[in-house]
Amino acid sequence: MIQYSSITDEIKTAIQDRIGSGAVSSSPEKLAEYAGDASELYFMPELVVHAEKVGDIQALMELANRYRFPVTPRGGGSGLAGGCLPLQGGVVLSTMGLNHVEFVDTKNFIMKVEPGVISLHVRNAADAAGLYYPPDPAGMDQSTIGGNAATDAGGPACVKYGTTRDYILGLEAVLPTGQLITTGVQTRKGVVGYDLTNLLVGSEGTLGIITSLTLKLLARPAATTGMMCVFNDMVSAMNGVAAIMGQGYLPSAMEFLDHKCLSLIGELLPFSLPGDKPSILIIEVDGPQRQIDEEIDAICSLATAEGAIELIKAVTAEEREEIWAVRRQVSLRIHEYANLYIPEDIVVPLTAIAELVDALPFYEKKYGIEVFAFGHAGDGNIHLNITTQDLDRKELAREGTEALLDLALRLQGTISGEHGIGIAKSQYLPMELSKNSIELQRDIKKLFDPNLILNPGKIFPER
Ligand SMILES: Cc1cc2nc3c(=O)[nH]c(=O)nc-3n(C[C@H](O)[C@H](O)[C@H](O)COP(=O)(O)OP(=O)(O)OC[C@H]3O[C@@H](n4cnc5c(N)ncnc54)[C@H](O)[C@@H]3O)c2cc1C
Repeated sequence: MIQYSSITDEIKTAIQDRIGSGAVSSSPEKLAEYAGDASELYFMPELVVHAEKVGDIQALMELANRYRFPVTPRGGGSGLAGGCLPLQGGVVLSTMGLNHVEFVDTKNFIMKVEPGVISLHVRNAADAAGLYYPPDPAGMDQSTIGGNAATDAGGPACVKYGTTRDYILGLEAVLPTGQLITTGVQTRKGVVGYDLTNLLVGSEGTLGIITSLTLKLLARPAATTGMMCVFNDMVSAMNGVAAIMGQGYLPSAMEFLDHKCLSLIGELLPFSLPGDKPSILIIEVDGPQRQIDEEIDAICSLATAEGAIELIKAVTAEEREEIWAVRRQVSLRIHEYANLYIPEDIVVPLTAIAELVDALPFYEKKYGIEVFAFGHAGDGNIHLNITTQDLDRKELAREGTEALLDLALRLQGTISGEHGIGIAKSQYLPMELSKNSIELQRDIKKLFDPNLILNPGKIFPER
């Protein structure tokens, strides 16, 4: 492990001289505030720096290289993998102060934003201009657009519209050396040189600090209609998904809840649940109203043919919100229910979702865990919420987690669809990536960050 300098008085003074004393926090309360994120891991920073302009970040990185202290970029702190936590101490760099929407260009369908803009505000700014920014991660009232880019965040709309990556045309970023670069284009297309934009997107704040983003926007869909389909079991629900997509329909959301999730929220539903392993699909369709009406009718027929026993349409915004409120309650209830909670977000081929969910009882019994599965049925992204009530069984729960990730890989899946690797999953990286691939990625990291001072200890397992 590299030995970094701790934050001495000399370093603190040098940072204050360059960035201003108001931009630096070192009180125990403030440090504790920046020690955690949504992963429930904790690492205490030695100093928090609140950047308000690009020059602040460049100055900080120059000092970090001179004195060799680590810097960890942080947006909204809603990450589920510990990516913004200072594993090796040093400085947490908050980008929340760079929070301007620079412009929305309604003629060219682009907008330019700073990284600290809350993701929901990005959506709202596009909407206010009559346009649409599709990525909709569930934590969007908390997360920043910089954090979304660094983790390539997804959400229910991904099945139709793709992830954050698909809406980033270009970036500006401060490299770990302090150099400023711009990547990508302001146009709808561009293939000049290597695709550095896509290298930075999803790199979890290890290759550079994003300071500006040019985003692609779409025309706002004229209307959206939602529905809830209730099935007797997961196999029928997944057959429903395959039938709907197989007929060429592409809903703007296709979410599922398994019977364990439903057991926690049953009383919120306006119907009684059938059988002992019911499953629910939440489907939304957007576009011109006439087209939606036709699609919803066709989807209802296809779902019924695959065994849907209850279909509840949600046409108004209020009705749709009632359905999403049920979906949101699931995470909260799992948190309330379990003493230990490990959030995993694997992806498997659509044809393997039912098989995976069917296999869960075997793992629950073997490892003394309970697993609640919900997620994005349309793109195979399953949130496996691995829980135990018995804190003495932490190690067994970890073994169960590893076994489930192994199952996802055996089903030709991947160990993370949207939350990233961070600290929480770095030990599992070699399960999916070859030694050569990891070494090449370590070399890329070294090229960007010769002194390994930006967000050390993330993504790659300890040697
Ligand atoms: C209730 C809840 C629901 C969620 N739902 C979803 C979901 O549906 N889909 C999904 O994908 N995720 C979801 N998440 C996870 C989380 O919201 C996303 O990972 C989000 O993109 C993190 O953004 P943030 O601003 O909070 O980043 P942080 O947590 O602050 O940081 C995340 C990573 O990004 C890096 N980073 C942050 N800002 C920058 C920057 N400017 N430059 C470079 N690197 C940076 C950090 O170093 C870290 O590695 C959810 C989280 C919660 C709590």
